[in-house]
Amino acid sequence: MLTCGCGRWMHTEGIEERAYEDGGLQWFIRSECRGCGLKVGVDVPGGQPSQLVDRLMWTDEALHRRDRMPPYLATLVKEEVEQEARQRNIPVITYELLLQPRGGTRVEWDPEAERRLDRVPAPVRAMARIELERTAADRGLARITVSLMEEVKAKYFGMGASK
Ligand SMILES: [Zn+2]
Repeated sequence: MLTCGCGRWMHTEGIEERAYEDGGLQWFIRSECRGCGLKVGVDVPGGQPSQLVDRLMWTDEALHRRDRMPPYLATLVKEEVEQEARQRNIPVITYELLLQPRGGTRVEWDPEAERRLDRVPAPVRAMARIELERTAADRGLARITVSLMEEVKAKYFGMGASK
C-alpha cells in the first residue's frame, strides 16, 4: 500500500498491461488519494503480486474486452472470473486470465465443431469458446457439437444459423 504525502492511504485506481520490447509484461499501476486527489503511477513487473494493488482489480485491457461482450455474457464472465481469481488468490484479472477456460473441467469438442470454431473470426473465437464450454457444462454435456454451436451462436452472438 502507498501512503500519500497527506497521510492517507492511496487506493488502486487502475492497471494497464504493457509489453516490453522483449515480450515481457509490465503493469502500470495507477493509485489515487481520495483525500487530496494526488495521483501516482508505478511500473512493476507484470504477473507478480504487488503491494500496490489493494483489492481485486481488472486490468484496463481485460475491462475493455469485457465491455465489448454482450451484456448477458459480460455479467456471467465477471462473476466466474472473479470467483476463480479469489479461489486462486489472484489479485489482478488480466486479459489472458479473462480468456482462459473456467473451472478446470474441459469438455470435449467434436472435430466438426472444432473446425467450425476455427473459422470464427479471431476476436470472437475465444469468447465463443468460453460461452460454448460454459453452456455445455451447465447442461452436463460432455461434448460440444455443431448443433449446440448453432444454438448458442443464434442466442448470444446474434449471428443466426449460417448455411
Ligand atoms: Zn493525499
